[in-house]
Amino acid sequence: MKAVRVTGPSTLEIADLPAPDPGDQVLIKPITVGVCGTDVKVFTGAIPVDYPRILGHEVIGEVVAAPTASAFKAGDRVLLDPASSCGHCDLCERGRPHLCRNAGLMGREIDGVFAEYVLAPASAVLAVPDTISAKASGLLQVLGTCVHALTSVTLVPGQVVAVIGLGVAGQLMVQLLKDHGVTVVGITRSEWKRDLAARNGATVVAAPDDAESALAELTAGRGPDLVIEAVGYEKTLAQSIELVGIGGEVIVFGTLTGGSEGLPYYQLYYKELTLYNPRAALFGDYAAGIELAASGRLALESIVTHELTLDEAARAFDLVHDPSSLKVLMHV
Ligand SMILES: [Zn+2]
Ligand SMILES: [Zn+2]
Repeated sequence: MKAVRVTGPSTLEIADLPAPDPGDQVLIKPITVGVCGTDVKVFTGAIPVDYPRILGHEVIGEVVAAPTASAFKAGDRVLLDPASSCGHCDLCERGRPHLCRNAGLMGREIDGVFAEYVLAPASAVLAVPDTISAKASGLLQVLGTCVHALTSVTLVPGQVVAVIGLGVAGQLMVQLLKDHGVTVVGITRSEWKRDLAARNGATVVAAPDDAESALAELTAGRGPDLVIEAVGYEKTLAQSIELVGIGGEVIVFGTLTGGSEGLPYYQLYYKELTLYNPRAALFGDYAAGIELAASGRLALESIVTHELTLDEAARAFDLVHDPSSLKVLMHV
């Protein structure tokens, strides 16, 4: 089988490997895989892995073979929860397997999904109804993580929520928030991403420099109840803390790895803010995302900007951080 693997920092290989033996697992033939920032970081070596490693953790596939005792049969279209958990550490026992102390992610600690065949335990497989198109289904893994992030807070219809950063996650957040009946303000420098968010449910969109006045107008000067940081920079987290209203909440969805300017610390105290740092997703979050996508209430296809093939993996990695792109998919 063909597989895209990294053999060293920034070194990619399209390998020809033997197809895996299913044993007591589900054998899946990937149909569509998604490329995201994590894959790019593994590719460049920013996230260290044992080489060689097959990349990728976002996959929609078709079941080729499944244990007879499982709920799956050949031909079923499925999504994989790409994270493994041990089931017996303290965090698993406390119902937080997404934070498992012995966790592994496909494409990082274990071989990933950028391949013609993938194995997974039946407990990590979710059925995907045919009503979700091939293109839209490529977003289901990311959608699950966004659904998970929003379980941190209680959304009340009529609330004002600002989303800073309108990349793939930011766009999904706008759509999920609209579905919850809140008033959404989308903030980004990119005009076409603002336009897309406005078409898909943002009541107001603004460039970062205009965000404060736009939010003040919408909230009679009180500021939004919740700000979602979906960029991953210290500067945008600082802006989230500055923009959110007194007693408000901030979801730090972007992955911050450092910064040297500092944060508006006094505002954290003065506004008595609550910050959430959601990571990954629970099995039920993926299931909820699939149900929502199947309902037709989300405009998932509009977030997909590029559809390539597995052979074009190197180009797909380049495109992930290109200003012209949102979701980059590869068809296997
Ligand atoms: Zn991803
Ligand atoms: Zn565990």
